Order: sequence, then structure tokens, then C-alpha cells
Amino acid sequence: MLNNLTQRLSRVVKTIRGEARITEANVADMLREVRLALLEADVALPVVREFTARVKDKALGQEVVGSLSPGQALVGVVHKELAALMGPGAVGLNLAVQPPAVVLMAGLQGAGKTTTTAKLAKWLIERQKKKVLTVSCDVYRPAAIAQLQTVSQQAGAEFLPSSPDEKPLDIAKRAIAHARAHHIDVLLVDTAGRLAVDAEMMREIADLHAALAPIETLFVVDAMQGQDALATARAFHDALPLTGIVLTKLDGDARGGAALSVHHVTGAPVKFAGVSEKIDGLEAFDPTRMADRILGMGDVVALVEEAQRSVDIQAAQKLAQKVKSGEQFDLNDFLMQLQQMNKMGGLQSLMDKLPAEMQARAGQADMDKASRDVRRMQGIICSMTPQERRKPDLIKASRKRRIATGAGVQVQDVNRMLGQFEQMRDMMKKMKGGKLFKMMQRMGG
Ligand code: GDP
Repeated sequence: MLNNLTQRLSRVVKTIRGEARITEANVADMLREVRLALLEADVALPVVREFTARVKDKALGQEVVGSLSPGQALVGVVHKELAALMGPGAVGLNLAVQPPAVVLMAGLQGAGKTTTTAKLAKWLIERQKKKVLTVSCDVYRPAAIAQLQTVSQQAGAEFLPSSPDEKPLDIAKRAIAHARAHHIDVLLVDTAGRLAVDAEMMREIADLHAALAPIETLFVVDAMQGQDALATARAFHDALPLTGIVLTKLDGDARGGAALSVHHVTGAPVKFAGVSEKIDGLEAFDPTRMADRILGMGDVVALVEEAQRSVDIQAAQKLAQKVKSGEQFDLNDFLMQLQQMNKMGGLQSLMDKLPAEMQARAGQADMDKASRDVRRMQGIICSMTPQERRKPDLIKASRKRRIATGAGVQVQDVNRMLGQFEQMRDMMKKMKGGKLFKMMQRMGG
């Protein structure tokens, strides 16, 4: 999916992430690379211009230049703007009306309207337990009606037959009446497309829109269409109040321009992406996740933000100060470290945000065990008296037994925890504060 763009942009990300200083010169270098990558992916020129202008503005602002890790902060800016290009966030279907909720499908012939109608039907039936009816208003191509019938059956949706002799508006009215009579939750209306935008088609779909009063009007667009997608999007946007976009064929080696420009042109959020010909090849679209993918970075940005939000800087500084002044690192400090780890959402949620290849390397079983170990260690420290926490060397056999009982663990678990604590204490002594403080600052950045 969008392979070329991903390859180019992840290379840029790798370079800037390592930059210790952000200057006008290296921002200009980066933006040149980004601009080329976007243009090559067929993103429309005005979109590229606006995007790079926004990134440039922020890149030289205090948020980045004043940050302790400017390269990382700059990656954050690129990521945020890229996501913003694709919409305001993940937006699902709005079905909050007196049933039947009507969803009108619009788009050119071949965009994937019929396929998407069936995919949506399956989605609504399986994930939202809705009763779904489909109908085709494409009276120009009998094959289109038959195709919708076939895929609707595959999806397990009810299908209302229509005929080329009927007028599209009559079919629409009949479908609404049928849906009401049969307690349908969602009525999906497939419409006729043309190979290119034409006035008659636009008038027809505008009339259908007026008659059906759909809660959702989805513009279905082929991601492989490149620059042409924009003119089409503009025409549909002018004719209809679009509420959402479905990008199809994102699985192909689409250059992806449409994905990055269609929201910009129409103002409507991308709600779904088609990722295969199969009936379950539909994904809810999330601009942030898409930006993650395009930048080849897993959910690393969320990870950094979470670390910044949750690491208690004051506590970290106090600890660093303590180590620096030669004061002893005790079990209270160790507990604080474990708690910081938990605040960041625990090991598993950290793992989930890593890029896929890194996750695979770390292995699931190990993570579960590591999470359990951390919780157990916390439990053990919490079963100690304040004095024991300050002076762990006081903890002899009888105290260990008491602590183990209190924490519901074995004595050897207490011993293991103390061993790990001692290792950490040795490391702290070696670091003598300076290096540790830098490390923690970077985390809290
Ligand atoms: P319509 O004319 O807009 O109704 O388009 P169709 O639903 O008939 O789709 C046109 C072609 O695109 C068909 O061959 C579909 O199988 C294919 N298609 C639709 N969506 C996707 C998708 O997300 N991925 C892939 N690979 N093919 C798709």
C-alpha cells in the first residue's frame, strides 16, 4: 500500500530523527525531499504546497527548535500535518436517525461503488448487528443490478430488485417504503456512475439525494486515479453535500495521491478504505494510523507523546539529583521507576505502538511474562515497611518470609526482586547522575 511514498518518506524520517539541531538549511533539505515524494505520489500541487508551508512554519517554531530532541519533534510535526491532510481523525458512519438510515453511494463507474456497498453491508451486519437492505438505482446497466444482487447475497444483506424500466427516483421511493415496512436499520443505495463526470448524472444523483434525504452521502473514489480523482471529487462535492469518502483499491500499488488530497478538496472525512476485492476487504480509515504507515513508523508518535505526558519530570530530576549527590538509591526509587513504566501504559501497550517488525522480534510470550514480573515486583515492595524500603540491606530471612506472605508470592520471588534492585543500584552508581539525568530528560523532553 502506497509503497513508494512510504519508502521515500521513511528514509526522510530516519534522517531528520537523528538531527541534533534544526536549522533553516536542514529543514529546507527535508522539505525538498518531502515535496518530491508527495508529487511523485501524485498528490495535487496545491495540497503539497500548503502542506510544506505548514510544516515549515512549525519546524522553525519554538515547539521544535526549543525541544530537547528537535529531530524527533520535527518528525512529530510532519506526522501531525500528514494526518491532518487526510482528515480530522477517525470518523465512523453516522447512523443516528430514525431507521431506516439511508446511505447514498456516489462515484464514477468502476470506482468500486457496488463492491463497497456490499462490503459496507457486511460490516454493518457483522459489527453493528444491523438489518441491512441494498438497492440499485443504476437503470442503465442491467448487469450492475445483477452484480449488486450477487454481492449483497454474499454479504448476507437483503436485496430489493429493481428494473431498467423504472425511473431511479421511483426505485428510491419504493426502497424507502420497503425499508420502513420491513424494519430495516440501514438502506444502502447504489447509484449509476459514468466513465467521466457529466451534467446529467450529477442532476440525477442530486435528485436522488433530495428524495432520499440520506444521513450519509459517501463519495467512492479509486485511489489509483491519481490527479484525476481531484477533478471528480470537486464535481461531486459541488453537486452533493458529501458526508464521507471511501478510498478504494488502496491495496494496489496506487501511488496514493488521491488518499492525500481528496479530503483537502472536499472537506469530507475519509471514512473507509477498500483494501481488497473480497467482500471483507474494508477498513475503517484513521488518518493517524495512515500517517504512521506512510512514514513507516508504527505508532511511534503516540509513544513519544505518551512518554512526554506521563513521565513525572520532577520525580526524575529528584532521582537524578539524589544519585549525583552520592545518596543511596533505595527501594522507593526503584518503585518509582516501576510506576513510571506502568504510567506509560504498561509494557504491552508500549509494544503495541512499535512498528510491526520490532514487535515480531520481541515476541508476545516474553511481553506477557515481563508485565507480570513488573506487577509482582511492585506488589513485593508495597508489602514492605518504609524502613525496609529505605534500607533494603536490613531485609533478612524472617522479614523476607513476612513480605512474601503479604505480597502473596514465594520467598524466592522476593530474592529475585532484591537481586534486580541491586543490579539497578550498581548501574546507578556507575552512571553518577549526569548520564542518567540526560537519559531521563530525553524521555520527558
Ligand atoms: P462501480 O462501477 O463503482 O460499482 O465499481 P465496482 O464495484 O464494480 O468495482 C470495479 C472493480 O474494482 C471491480 O473489479 C472490483 O472488484 C474492484 N474493486 C473495488 N474495490 C476494490 C478494492 O478495494 N481493492 C481491489 N483490489 N479491487 C477493488
